[in-house]
Amino acid sequence: MSHTIVRGGLVLDIAKGTAEPADILIEDDAIREIGPPGCPAPDGAVEISAARRLLHPGLVNAHTHGHGNLAKGMGDRWTLELLLAAAPWITGNRSTEDKYLSTQLGAVEMVLKGCTACYDLSFEWPLPTTEGLAQAAAAYADVGMRAVVAPMVADRSFYEAIPGLRHALPPPLQERVAELRLPPAEATLSAIRTALHGWTLDRDRVRPAVAPTIPHHCSDAFISGCADLAREFDLGLHSHVAESKVQAVTGIRLYGRTQTAHLAALGVLGPHFTVAHGVWLDEDDMALLGDRGASVAHNPGSNMRLGSGLADTRAMLERRVNLGIGTDGANCSDNQNMYEAMRLASFVSKVQGPDWRRWLTTREAALAATEGGARALGFGDRIGRIAPGYKADIVMLDLDHPNWLPLNDPVNQLVHTEDGTAVASVMIGGRLVVDNRRITTVDLARLRERVAAARDRLAAANADSRRLYEALVPVVGSHCPGLAAAPYHVHRYGARLD
Ligand SMILES: [Zn+2]
Repeated sequence: MSHTIVRGGLVLDIAKGTAEPADILIEDDAIREIGPPGCPAPDGAVEISAARRLLHPGLVNAHTHGHGNLAKGMGDRWTLELLLAAAPWITGNRSTEDKYLSTQLGAVEMVLKGCTACYDLSFEWPLPTTEGLAQAAAAYADVGMRAVVAPMVADRSFYEAIPGLRHALPPPLQERVAELRLPPAEATLSAIRTALHGWTLDRDRVRPAVAPTIPHHCSDAFISGCADLAREFDLGLHSHVAESKVQAVTGIRLYGRTQTAHLAALGVLGPHFTVAHGVWLDEDDMALLGDRGASVAHNPGSNMRLGSGLADTRAMLERRVNLGIGTDGANCSDNQNMYEAMRLASFVSKVQGPDWRRWLTTREAALAATEGGARALGFGDRIGRIAPGYKADIVMLDLDHPNWLPLNDPVNQLVHTEDGTAVASVMIGGRLVVDNRRITTVDLARLRERVAAARDRLAAANADSRRLYEALVPVVGSHCPGLAAAPYHVHRYGARLD
């Protein structure tokens, strides 16, 4: 048994809004006790000074994509649908090493920016592999970060999933996109099953989940197959639901009801289920999710970047939806900064109407980025708080940094002022993964070299897919906004459009 004592810091209690001087005694990877300054520690305990540091629970990124990190900055004016059309270009031809590298790069960025755990929907073309999934998981384990890694899967291509899109393409492009057809449901489900049987990592650190990517990109049988796997292996389920208006309209056209109502009818909602985005959820959808104990991973940065819209988090909280906050992938955010995501979550709630009483408080945003995310990841009783019995996932902010001069209110400043630049040290499971601004687990020089080499190789290998994307833009870029122009009634906008 090993002991560490973190002395001299101010320990943030988000729920109470206080930051009091206290020492934290850590036994192995968990917090054993929080005591007054100078409290006794067992003989041989390693002492860490946290003088002039604010200690907050590690931030939990409730939605990201490890494969997106090599694609940051590759696009500008992308809707979600243009991003999906760009996928073969921006994520094509990835080697097993690239899968590790892209995930590792994101993990490094996250820990340097105060995030200690994430929910990663990881994509492999054309279907998940045991090796690819193991590489993504190993990247987190090697960085020392906690993660849930879910193979992101479907059995319909984007061109089969969007009504009328394939036929809107000129015949030569129809032929090209026919090559993007996905393997049959059984092949992908069996690949996931094999990968789950081969899972070797400690599930307290890195655990698997299953992510049927977007409901209408999946047949009902495929969604049910994913849900069966989640049940059998006791895993989370995560899906992009009501992200863009195109999705919302497509759901109604395909199912005659919302995507959420359809998922409820399939029996797949529950406390293990996370909706990513939920921009276009209506009040009944939110009630369905809240009643079943499900989560929403709110990605305000990506929702604005892709023009998806502004999610109504107040309405979600009112219906007891568990709220987490995510950055989304670096291919559409284009960073992995949970401080920024918290700040945007607060701001996005505030631009939706003049009734300030409906705006998220900084406390609610900070709780969503810690406890809410922890619950969505299935780590609800172990991370997200600095408290006895919880894992020692602790971020130490430099109180001498201008962000904290003066210290007026710790929670307001955590959400509205901090941007990651005051992160001094980051402890995950009692281990200093970032120590005085230096990452201890990764050789950054080597990472830089490998990333540069991968970038050049992938740019050459995907040049043809880039040309295909450019040819698709005029059609996808006009067909999808056309679909989205359909009237769609969402209660919160206060007027029926149809
Ligand atoms: Zn996503």
